[in-house]
Amino acid sequence: MTIVRSFPKGGIHPHDDKDRTRDGAIWNSAIPPICIVPLRQHLGPGCERLVEPGSRVTEGMLIGRAPSDGAHVHAPVPGIVRRIRTITVPECGECEAVVIELSGAFSKLGKDLEARDWRSMPRKDVVTLLRDLGVVELSGNPHPLHRSLQFARRAGVSRVVVNGAESGPYLSSEDRLLQEHCAELVTGAEIVAHLLHTDDVVFAIGADKKAAVRSLRRELSKRESLARVLEVGTKYPQSAVPQLLRSVQRKEIPYGKDERELSCFVLGAATAYATAEAVLFGKPCVERVVTVAGGGIARPGNVKVRLGTTFREVIDECGGIVAPSVRIVSGDPLTGFEVTDLETPVTKTTRGILVLTRSEIRAAERRSCISCGRCVRACPMGLEPQRLYKLIEHAQQSKAEAEGLNACTECGCCSHVCPSRIPLMQSIAEAKSEHLLDYGAEPQNPQFGNQA
Ligand code: SF4
Ligand code: SF4
Repeated sequence: MTIVRSFPKGGIHPHDDKDRTRDGAIWNSAIPPICIVPLRQHLGPGCERLVEPGSRVTEGMLIGRAPSDGAHVHAPVPGIVRRIRTITVPECGECEAVVIELSGAFSKLGKDLEARDWRSMPRKDVVTLLRDLGVVELSGNPHPLHRSLQFARRAGVSRVVVNGAESGPYLSSEDRLLQEHCAELVTGAEIVAHLLHTDDVVFAIGADKKAAVRSLRRELSKRESLARVLEVGTKYPQSAVPQLLRSVQRKEIPYGKDERELSCFVLGAATAYATAEAVLFGKPCVERVVTVAGGGIARPGNVKVRLGTTFREVIDECGGIVAPSVRIVSGDPLTGFEVTDLETPVTKTTRGILVLTRSEIRAAERRSCISCGRCVRACPMGLEPQRLYKLIEHAQQSKAEAEGLNACTECGCCSHVCPSRIPLMQSIAEAKSEHLLDYGAEPQNPQFGNQA
């Protein structure tokens, strides 16, 4: 009997509708005639623009150079820069974007590329490659991967946990990647483990992803790998780092700390895939798999999309909108962002495009708190959301902090279960953003050394 590890407190089982997308193969979206490429596609600083209107760009050419703590941006298609615009990226805010009109030939798309022998490369060169190719964490908080690796190395983490829980409602792109690109994904995890000087790798996979678990076990036994597969619960937010590590390590991350405190590095499944693509084939981060779902879309599925493709193009690719009064969301319905402009482009941070109908949104009038306690029971971090909300409303920020404000992971469980539709998470997230935890100073000596 398989043992499934779940986290003990809080969490919810929202309507997830994954069945409409998880069984179909990933397909390639049509290349758009115009790409709108934001120069900031992750948390952190934006890029310095390297092109002007009229510049000719090739596929994968560097068009935005980031400082050392950022991630570079590359041209997803060959073409001509038509103009520079200011746009708003749902997850990253306002930034400059380069508008590229497609023309010319692709140098990597559709070609058989020879895999690089990464094990013979010095570790610091592999990290430099990840930085040069603009790889960011594609699943959770989108930090540049090279940067996260530097911090993890400095903290001496000894275990890589590949996050394949994907508990966000509707989203199934990582499930599909695990099923269809298992070999690359395992290689990506091996590369990261190698960079962190460890061979302790745990694949934490949602227990609802049976086909993915089978693919992984087959791949690992073929390689005679020591990596383990661990099935974790399906309750939301199982894929959030504190809940994932509670299941894997059976320990809580102490308040104010992160996963490094448990000597772990959490690598998203999609990030493992992007890592392999970058290191093996030198592919810059210019495409990603996006789940397109919701009751309002004609043909839901998982689509590989060139970054810079607009939401409109992706929705058209999936047969268009088939229901009136829909809400478009980037991400998942609990933590995602409403998108009102369909010219918004897909970026490295776009995990899903949801076209939700009125019944899926569960629109209702906001009312007063009835002290039902549901938000408290749903909070996986053991917080009292209604109490935090009241403290924030009364401008008692420091009291809210003393009661755990900064421990909130913004999972959205509290807002989801609240019968009075009080925007608990939104209010807490806003209060938190004024007092962001310091992610740490630039490591002076990233300690990757020259040894292979
Ligand atoms: S959003 Fe924050 S307060 Fe609300 S349930 Fe999640 S962790 Fe708890
Ligand atoms: S779930 Fe909503 S109504 Fe119930 S206690 Fe929490 S805030 Fe109040």
